[in-house]
Amino acid sequence: MTATAFWFRRDLRLLNNLALAEAFDTSAEKTVAPFYLIDRSEFDALSAIRAHSLLASIDSLRASIGDALTVRVVANRDEYVREVVRLVTSLGVKELLATRMYDPHGIAQQNDVGLALRDAGVNLRLVGSNYAVEPGTVLKGDGTPYRVYTPFYRAWLASYRQEHTTIASDARWHKVDSSHELPAPSEPAPFKIRAGEAFAAETLAKFKKRALHNYDEDRNRADLSGTSHLSHALAHGEIHPITLLSQLGESPGEIVFVKELAWREFYADVLYWNPDSLNDYYEPRFAKMRYDSGATAEARLQAWKDGKTGYPMVDAGMRQLKQTGWMHNRVRMIVASFLVKDLHLEWLDGAKHFENLLTDFDPASNAHGWQWTAGSGTDASPYYRVFNPVMQGYKFDPNGDYVRKFIPELRHIDGKDVHEPWNLIHGYLNGYPERIVDHAAEREESLARLEEIKVRD
Ligand SMILES: Cc1cc2nc3c(=O)[nH]c(=O)nc-3n(C[C@H](O)[C@H](O)[C@H](O)COP(=O)(O)OP(=O)(O)OC[C@H]3O[C@@H](n4cnc5c(N)ncnc54)[C@H](O)[C@@H]3O)c2cc1C
Repeated sequence: MTATAFWFRRDLRLLNNLALAEAFDTSAEKTVAPFYLIDRSEFDALSAIRAHSLLASIDSLRASIGDALTVRVVANRDEYVREVVRLVTSLGVKELLATRMYDPHGIAQQNDVGLALRDAGVNLRLVGSNYAVEPGTVLKGDGTPYRVYTPFYRAWLASYRQEHTTIASDARWHKVDSSHELPAPSEPAPFKIRAGEAFAAETLAKFKKRALHNYDEDRNRADLSGTSHLSHALAHGEIHPITLLSQLGESPGEIVFVKELAWREFYADVLYWNPDSLNDYYEPRFAKMRYDSGATAEARLQAWKDGKTGYPMVDAGMRQLKQTGWMHNRVRMIVASFLVKDLHLEWLDGAKHFENLLTDFDPASNAHGWQWTAGSGTDASPYYRVFNPVMQGYKFDPNGDYVRKFIPELRHIDGKDVHEPWNLIHGYLNGYPERIVDHAAEREESLARLEEIKVRD
């Protein structure tokens, strides 16, 4: 029997997986031998929640293809490449199929694997992507990439085609070998973590029923479950955006939801053209800004990570991240603004922390979500927004329920007063920390530092 080899990456789905469909088409017997590799050096850096959610994704994929998935753990990047070559050559095939990745790590990985396979006489064929429109292909009239979201969105909207791929009913899986290894996370899962393609479909169905119609109104409310919670599934490729877009109509909620999906595609495009913006300032002048360092800065960074800054909305967000591996988008902006503009720390410090903890970690959306908020990213001019963490709390958690949910020390305070415990005689009754900085003063400081880099330009 001649199976086609298939390398699963961040495309852990069967539906609308163009590369997988192509693998089945390529095989004369409609048989595919799938494998997935875990790089131990990367896995060990993940928080327990992130590690368990990745394992849940892999388990779900294994279940859906009837145990035929070969999973191997390798020590590092070099070993990863060698293991792909070993697995593919053991099958005696001349071609390996996989989904093309567009982030710097994915690109480097597929380049390394492609070269090593070529030396072994095997062709790596990369097909499709995890995007409705492949990053790098939406261009302005003059052939250059977009730097601003709205015109990108319009061009993107006009360029995607709703083509679906499914796997034929006579498709068969071939197990590469009987090995199946999974690494053990350093800590047990704090709660039952669900993931995978079937769970993504269930999540989408619930979202359509529960919140999509009000998405335009509710998506910014931290205290409501007004968003889809599909980010983990999109980041791991458990659902393809085309699957979502094909089910959306023209109601205000649906139109805004499409716009949010387009932000993900925009950031993937921006990162594709600017790979250095993963770890560096998209707007270079922000590298010249004065940032704080030293013991006080370190202590403040730690307070931020621990959800102990004394600003309820910031702390609730950071605790939500730690406890659940996810944070509401509005609150991501609030905590990111606080780190950069109130604590004067570099966006990368925050982005690294998010990377270790977010189960929906996505290199492009994370780096550019941070850079947008820091003011150094796309769409920043002409505003230099400094979020007021208290006002944001009143607006997007109007009854204080979100804060009370994640901060037990503030549960004794009723209603919206929870956003300013310093105004209450009993505000600090249960040990909630006092504010580590004064927002009004730090806002002025941040604007002054912005002036310095303007003057130097
Ligand atoms: C500082 C910061 C860091 C972020 N890091 C990540 C990250 O690592 N991974 C990630 O997937 N998203 C990231 N985001 C974007 C956004 O916060 C999440 O996508 C969203 O909160 C996920 O929840 P949801 O699936 O319920 O979103 P929904 O509101 O239901 O949106 C649907 C989908 O659209 C996409 N989307 C929505 N908003 C954005 C946005 N602003 N930018 C890019 N894509 C968006 C996501 O794929 C999301 O799943 C970040 C935002 C900020 C401000």
